[in-house]
Amino acid sequence: MATDSAIVREVGLRDGLQIIPTFFPTPAKIAWIEAELAAGVRDIEVCSFVPPKNIPQFADALEVTAASLAMPGLRPSALVPNLKGAQRAVAAGVPELHFVLSVSEEHNLRNVQRTTQQSIDEFRAVLELAHSQPTPVRVSAALATALGCTIAGQVDPGRVIELAHVVVDAGADELSLADTVGYANPAQVRAMFDRAQRELGGRVPIAAHFHDTRGLGLANAYAAAEAGIRIFDASLAGLGGCPYAPGASGNIVTEDLVFMLESMGIATGIDLGRLVEVRRIVAENLPDEAMYGQIAKAGPPKGFAQAA
Ligand SMILES: [Zn+2]
Repeated sequence: MATDSAIVREVGLRDGLQIIPTFFPTPAKIAWIEAELAAGVRDIEVCSFVPPKNIPQFADALEVTAASLAMPGLRPSALVPNLKGAQRAVAAGVPELHFVLSVSEEHNLRNVQRTTQQSIDEFRAVLELAHSQPTPVRVSAALATALGCTIAGQVDPGRVIELAHVVVDAGADELSLADTVGYANPAQVRAMFDRAQRELGGRVPIAAHFHDTRGLGLANAYAAAEAGIRIFDASLAGLGGCPYAPGASGNIVTEDLVFMLESMGIATGIDLGRLVEVRRIVAENLPDEAMYGQIAKAGPPKGFAQAA
């Protein structure tokens, strides 16, 4: 019996779809969520509450949220970039918000048109709103560009930890450190997550969010796992990409991550075979989009058994 387990959180419906201009039909989004839940994926970031004029892909956030809330056993979450988005998400009944702010000032200004300090002030307002609900809404603080930035380049790890303390002190229910642009290497990840885990791991769960832009995504996930991290974001088929690196892959591939963790004896509760089958829904609805992932191509090794 496995004594070690991890949460694999599907973010393909948000991070994967957000830069894809083709609208993924609402019933197909719902079918995708249902199929992953049936495969054992209980944590799914189902949409983003950004203004629909900015990202039309999320114009159906309310419908997707409502359908997700009706699925027993699912723990749906949504990304919110600001208080307005949080208000819409809370009104829609989303039980967990992922509030994103960039450690890199330049990236934050470009991404959410606010200084990092303005985002922190707004995060406090989001927490107040979320935690004052009759059933308190969980809020994860996602620190984007925590391991590098396409505009600023290197990001000071000391600043990351400083901001991590600020958001946890403010009352965040989870801390997520994100390599938004795929700059990180495993040694850097190990050092960063070791420190975060040591200083804050006793207070909040810490999640890791990696992009595979430069091919080090799974190596980085392994490094984070070695630092004791047990919550990982990933996208089915590695959907998505990086607006600054045309042709680059998106998040780490959910199927490959599940394979890696299960092979290492870390149980995910996800049936790998059924998960791989969900790719069909993506392929049918995004025929022109590149799909990544090795386990779907090669199949599991002979004798492979999932962690019990
Ligand atoms: Zn991301």
